[in-house]
Amino acid sequence: MTDLWTISETSFDSGRIRHNETVFTQGNGYLNTRGAFEEYFPNEQRTTFVHGVFDDVPVVFTELVNFPDWLELEIILAGERFSLAEGEILSHERQLSLRNGLLTRQVRWRSPKGRTTRLEFRRFTSLANVHLANLQVSITPEDYSGSVEVRGGLYAGADNLGYKHWEWLEQGSGKHECWLRLRTKTTRIEAGLAARLTVTAGDEVSRRTCNSRGHPGVEYKTHLKAGTSLLAEKTVSIFTGRDGTHPLEMARAELARLPESAWDTLWPEHARRWDEEWERCDVIIEGDDEAQLAMRFSLYHLLIAAPRQDERVNIGAKTLSGYGYRGHAFWDTEIFMLPFFTYTRPEIARNLLSYRFHNLPGAREKAALNGYSGAQYPWESAGDGREVTPTWVPNPYSRTDLIRIWTGDIEIHISTDIAYAVWQYFAASRDEGFLIDRGAEIILDTARFWASRLEWNAGRGVYEITDVIGPDEYHDHVDNNAYTNIMARWHLRKAAWLGKWLRDNHSEAAKRLFTQLALSSETLKHWQTIAEQIDCRADEKTGLIEQFDGYFDLKDLDLEELEPRIESVQALLGIEGANQTQIIKQPDMVMLMYLLPEEFTPESIQANFDYYTARTDLSYGSSLGPAIQAIMAARLDNPESAYENFMRAARADLVEVRGNAGDGSRGASAGGLWQAAVFGFGGLKINDDGWSVDPKLPEHWKRLAFKFVWRGQEVKIDLKAEEGRK
Ligand code: BGC
Repeated sequence: MTDLWTISETSFDSGRIRHNETVFTQGNGYLNTRGAFEEYFPNEQRTTFVHGVFDDVPVVFTELVNFPDWLELEIILAGERFSLAEGEILSHERQLSLRNGLLTRQVRWRSPKGRTTRLEFRRFTSLANVHLANLQVSITPEDYSGSVEVRGGLYAGADNLGYKHWEWLEQGSGKHECWLRLRTKTTRIEAGLAARLTVTAGDEVSRRTCNSRGHPGVEYKTHLKAGTSLLAEKTVSIFTGRDGTHPLEMARAELARLPESAWDTLWPEHARRWDEEWERCDVIIEGDDEAQLAMRFSLYHLLIAAPRQDERVNIGAKTLSGYGYRGHAFWDTEIFMLPFFTYTRPEIARNLLSYRFHNLPGAREKAALNGYSGAQYPWESAGDGREVTPTWVPNPYSRTDLIRIWTGDIEIHISTDIAYAVWQYFAASRDEGFLIDRGAEIILDTARFWASRLEWNAGRGVYEITDVIGPDEYHDHVDNNAYTNIMARWHLRKAAWLGKWLRDNHSEAAKRLFTQLALSSETLKHWQTIAEQIDCRADEKTGLIEQFDGYFDLKDLDLEELEPRIESVQALLGIEGANQTQIIKQPDMVMLMYLLPEEFTPESIQANFDYYTARTDLSYGSSLGPAIQAIMAARLDNPESAYENFMRAARADLVEVRGNAGDGSRGASAGGLWQAAVFGFGGLKINDDGWSVDPKLPEHWKRLAFKFVWRGQEVKIDLKAEEGRK
């Protein structure tokens, strides 16, 4: 039977290392380490990111800082350094267990001088104690006897694609240990790392500590007879100034607590924690091995990025697994990833939403800078919740000029996306404590922003929202984007309702918030009034809604005519070229109908779905699109299209479709995949009264099973093929 918990690689392909580093990333919600090799390889991106550790950088303002990686091992076999870039690779296999995050690798390597060695690696980042990581390697000379040296340490020279963020502060080495204290240059966050290296071999082993500046380590040397083995083990402890004032002391104390060989001590608890995660989160798909594996892979990547102990960090669009978007968080979190956490791990959803609560000051600052009231969330957010969208970047299509990025200025729907996610979390959890203490402030203060942002058009007697970017980023500076307008209407209505509910049910909290945000009954009434006057037009006969003013007048290019293609419509036609057509980068109206189905008639949903689907760049546009498209197709009884788009999302990272999976895993696509299985094929519907399922399983699926938490109670859904199709 196929193992549907393991991602495997059966040979070494240097052309795929960047992609595979992303795929084989390990992590525990505190740190993530890309699947680089212990022994180094040219041009690799050996990267460890720790949540919340950002530092300033030109162009993108701030980025997650690459830590000294805990993997590094130098292995010298009879005087020759082990490296996949030299000699001959007789075999090379790797496996990542999604079940427990264990990464294993078996290599048979013939050195340039013709000596054959077998090396077996295994490693994990502890989920039980997120500050700890451990690796082992067993080394066996097959056809020679000779010296074997193993050196491991911590390298302060770690950089972000050539850019250095660390200042060296202190280092040292002891019997088996070495340690390092660093500080980020501008944010001045300290990092303390301690590593221990031990070696067990039949023969006598000599040990030496090395303390060259910026690279402390421990080194072992022994002699191995052909067919005998050496086992090296490295345990590393990582703390930062975000964990306490003396991170180095914390790291060293943590290591000192552990026995010399820590694997057996750390592993059982780690594995148990993973069992618990899967017990709550697994989605079982029978009858489709590729879909099953991709689903677990996606959930694994979300789980390793999910902050369990920290409510001041968010998950970047490319999670913690690569340099893409430099760790910045977008609406990808609230709209795409969060539902998975809200419904399976509400504690994590609460942490993520709390990040937005703690960062209200940054959102208020942005609103004020733009001349508005309340809180306007940044399009891209990092350490302190200020806007960090780059303003100018090199043009990815020409590389000869710069392009202005407008999303940070005018992609303003994110404030409502966050409010929507708060509401969705509350609706699923009924966590009144969170709503009263944190969520309400988010919803109400962002509503204040909208009230000040709406523009009255006296001629038409409506409120407009001009000069925005909707979810479809092929078109910018548009007026009255339907997604933005209708979501803002929902937002103001909900805020008015919430203000009243607070007053009626939690008068103390209401008093506090109303005073703090300068609200009154009049404000609530005003919100209600203006919400109803927001420009939201549908064609009376067809129910078709124009994506923004003037969209229907754009060139109606037939997407089919551009086939076959291997790049996005924007890459093909250029930024301006795509802007002049009706082709869209990702679902926009369709996204809106997914989030707020109750706002539309079934006829209008069908009409808009048909119209916009034909014009959406689902194959090479945004990777956020396919999963949402799949859900809507399933809801509208279009199983082929639902499955095709589901598989597009399933393959987003596992298969190198868009050529940039090496930049990190796509959290939104992963979260979207969960939503597509649960809300699309599972047909789970949630409303104020409860939940129901209306399954629409793909033809060949035999079973779909998942769990979710509904108001504190776990609900198990197990759909078999017969009842899964109606
Ligand atoms: C998409 C956005 C998304 C961002 C980060 C863009 O290409 O159009 O919707 O938030 O990527 O994933």
